[in-house]
Amino acid sequence: MGRYIEAKCRRCRRAMEKLFLKGDRCATAKCGLVRRASIPGVHGKNKTSKSGISEYGMQLMAKQKIKRIYGILERQFRKHFDEVKNRPGITGDLLLARLELRLDNAVYRINFASSRSQARQIVNHGLIMVNGRRVNIPSFAVKVGDVISINPFKKEKNYFKNLSQVLKNKTNFPNWISFNKENLEGKIVNIPTKRDSGIDVDIQMVVEYYSR
Ligand code: SF4
Repeated sequence: MGRYIEAKCRRCRRAMEKLFLKGDRCATAKCGLVRRASIPGVHGKNKTSKSGISEYGMQLMAKQKIKRIYGILERQFRKHFDEVKNRPGITGDLLLARLELRLDNAVYRINFASSRSQARQIVNHGLIMVNGRRVNIPSFAVKVGDVISINPFKKEKNYFKNLSQVLKNKTNFPNWISFNKENLEGKIVNIPTKRDSGIDVDIQMVVEYYSR
């Protein structure tokens, strides 16, 4: 399956804002955007703001930004849009909920990984179970009632050895996930809202982009 191969910090520089793609490093002075706050490319230094961008350009930027945040390529993103566009409700909110309910994102929200790309790798490697069954598809849609846990055959991996201690001190679980710190299990208890996603993007622009 395709994935972004462009350097993560370049994606932030292109979006002209922090997208928090590298976990803990994003909050430090080593952040690529802190060190070099210009758009990549020869003419990047001349473009320092979003002023003068057309409406279409703004819609395109909103779509690209959200794709970069979730680490999804165009075809899959479009597929998620097509999945929700005819459902009753506000299409933008439904799209965000679908993105939040991707298994790789849920694994990231549970704090099994420090970034979505790391979560995607964990899922790809078969380390995650949903309702007691191994699922290695990052785009898998979890639903209310599903329980996400670590594959018991992989619990002895170095990666997970210190995880329970780390998770005991974590408090930043979203309110659509109930996390059991003893069993290291996360249960989906609600459909995530736009507010829960915490993503600062005008999702309506994405809907308008695809409705042209
Ligand atoms: Fe973006 Fe994180 Fe790189 Fe900073 S460190 S530019 S927030 S990916």
